Amino acid sequence: MSWVTVIWWMSAGACLTLAFLQFVVWWRNRAAQANLAFSILAVAVAAFAALELALMQAETPEQLGTVARWIHVPAWVIVASLVAFVRLYLGAGRRWLAWTVIGARTLSLILNFVFSPNINYRQITPLRHISFLGESVSIPTGVPNPWMLVAQSSLLLLVIFVIDAAISVWRRGDRRRAVMVGGSIVFFAVTASAQSLAVTWQIISMPLTVSLFFQGLVAVVAWELSYDVVRAASLARRLQASEAGLREFEERVTLAADAARLGVWEFDTDTSRLWVSDKVRELFQFPREIEISYHEFQQRVHPDDRVARDQVAQNAIQNQTDYEIEYRVVLPDGKVRWMAGRGRCLPAGDGKSTRLLGVTMDITKRKQAEELFELATEASPSGTLLADDQGRIVLVNAHVEELFGYRRDELIGKTVEFLLPERFGASHGIDRSNFFGAPEARAMGEGRELFGRRKDGSEFPVEIGLNPIQTPHGLVVLASIVDISERLAAEEVARRSRQQVELLSRVSLLGEMTASLAHELNQPLAAIVNNATAATQYLEQGRLDAEQLREILADVVEDARRARDIMANVRSAIKKGAAIRGRINLNDVVKAITHMIQPDAIAHVCKIRTFLAPQLPLIEGDPIQIQQAVTNLVRNALDAMRDAPASRRIVEIATHYNGDGAIGVAVRDFGAGISEITRQRLFEQFFTTKEDGLGMGLAIVRSIVEAHGGTITADNAEGGGARFYFRLPVTAEVLA
Ligand code: ADP
Repeated sequence: MSWVTVIWWMSAGACLTLAFLQFVVWWRNRAAQANLAFSILAVAVAAFAALELALMQAETPEQLGTVARWIHVPAWVIVASLVAFVRLYLGAGRRWLAWTVIGARTLSLILNFVFSPNINYRQITPLRHISFLGESVSIPTGVPNPWMLVAQSSLLLLVIFVIDAAISVWRRGDRRRAVMVGGSIVFFAVTASAQSLAVTWQIISMPLTVSLFFQGLVAVVAWELSYDVVRAASLARRLQASEAGLREFEERVTLAADAARLGVWEFDTDTSRLWVSDKVRELFQFPREIEISYHEFQQRVHPDDRVARDQVAQNAIQNQTDYEIEYRVVLPDGKVRWMAGRGRCLPAGDGKSTRLLGVTMDITKRKQAEELFELATEASPSGTLLADDQGRIVLVNAHVEELFGYRRDELIGKTVEFLLPERFGASHGIDRSNFFGAPEARAMGEGRELFGRRKDGSEFPVEIGLNPIQTPHGLVVLASIVDISERLAAEEVARRSRQQVELLSRVSLLGEMTASLAHELNQPLAAIVNNATAATQYLEQGRLDAEQLREILADVVEDARRARDIMANVRSAIKKGAAIRGRINLNDVVKAITHMIQPDAIAHVCKIRTFLAPQLPLIEGDPIQIQQAVTNLVRNALDAMRDAPASRRIVEIATHYNGDGAIGVAVRDFGAGISEITRQRLFEQFFTTKEDGLGMGLAIVRSIVEAHGGTITADNAEGGGARFYFRLPVTAEVLA
């Protein structure tokens, strides 16, 4: 086989192979119409090459004329498929120009079959043989047909069409394609038609090799297409990788959502299809694997919340916004659970439909805790108010409404200064920031008197306890507010009565002391008087010597000193009395009284016995008052035994402590005891059964005992006589 045959058949074979490959591409993906156009082009080039070879091997002028005529058929296909390829592949080229090219080529094809032997020659003269690639090939000689210019002009139009298309592709930014595709078509079309013209007009003496030029064009375009395939493959790989990444991301999101106990769902507004995660199925108790409709989803929502939930979702879809809602669901087993739902409306990828993406969370526990908290707050005996770190009121209970005279909705959102008199307002803001700087449970406005302001503007004294609470939404403060007007009024009454008692007891003490002073001074004064009288008598009788006088005067001085000491004792007792409150050992009090009352006891021919509990804890109080109380009881006991036989005249004073936090003191006598009528009125002021009685003694005793936080009782003792018993609390420190 000769070289020419080998080259031409190889070239045709290469074209057919490329054609087949691109045909397969198109077959697989019918949208790839450019590949089909290329495939047709390559087949036509192969056919052209085959006919070209036949041309070279023609043996008679007739044969050559016929082949040269038929070669225009693949030429037409080449032009038409090139135009189609440019339009499809580059997506450019003017439509009218495309049709003009095809029209011109079609015209030349028609003329080709009109003229004999063809459009190129009017007449073919006997063949000429020349040597080409070492082989003898025939080349046509004859009279060229000027109509051939129609065919040439169609090629010129093709070049114009392609240049125009390439320019717009270049402008579009796809410069590579513009150069590769546009440039190669123009180059090969121009060179091919130049050679065909030169051969036909016998300017050069060589056979027609146009198919080789087209072969080059096919190769370049095939390269370009395969480059696309490579690019598509790498794109596909990247897409795969990103899809795998996306899947991984989705899995991670689902995992994270599950971990956060969040159900995830998506509603496609276009298809009305609802996708829900397994967690949503679990929360709403939907069976697995079965598709759930929006309607079924809504049916689970509590009838009272259904409309509201649907409305926020629809609103989000219409306005492409987000929503947040808390609602109840009724599960198939009848249980009611609280859910928090959040949704976001997103446009879908196609730009037409929208998707509603949502998460759902079971908040039943939180809701229950909130309800419990509200119930507890309502049940609280004091006014309870919850404020955020800005001092805005978040919650109040019914007591706050009662205390301040506002309705709840008038208070929510207001700052707490709203409830304070204006003079506190400014400093309170500072106090609040201090509180949030170092939050700890404490009383508000320590050391200051606090007042609340009612809706009507009136003020009332309050005590406020503050408790910081750390919540997921930040630090809040729980304030409990107590109206202390009544307590302050009661304290005032108590203070007044204490004052009264003090006054009374001091007056009474003064009496006591006057009496005891008189009694105690009586003896030294009487001794002084006696000594002075004796000295006077001795002097009158002339029996007084200097020694006797000195002794008498020494006695007088001694008695006068005693009197002075007694006075000094009284003064110190009065001074001590000035220190009103202190720690008291009741045993000491009893001992002091026993001593002090002794002269009275002797005057009543009466014995005093004491039974003192060992290691008595201390009490806190006014020692003079306590002394006064016990003295009054003992004095009454002495009075009660006036008519009793001397052997029974005994007063027993006892102290008790059994570790229960209070010390007991009992004063018992062996007199007539207390009648039932007397008992009922015993502690009343001015109640007395005695002729010279004032009826104040027991009233003072009870006031004193009660002012010290104690209690007093009176009854008849076993074996006769009355028994008065009072208990006073041990100081808190001692107990601790
Ligand atoms: P006064 O001693 O001036 O009468 P008190 O208030 O001390 O006033 O006593 C009121 C009354 O209680 C007495 O008048 C007496 O009737 C009764 N009373 C007080 N102590 C005793 C007692 N130890 N035994 C019997 N009756 C008593």
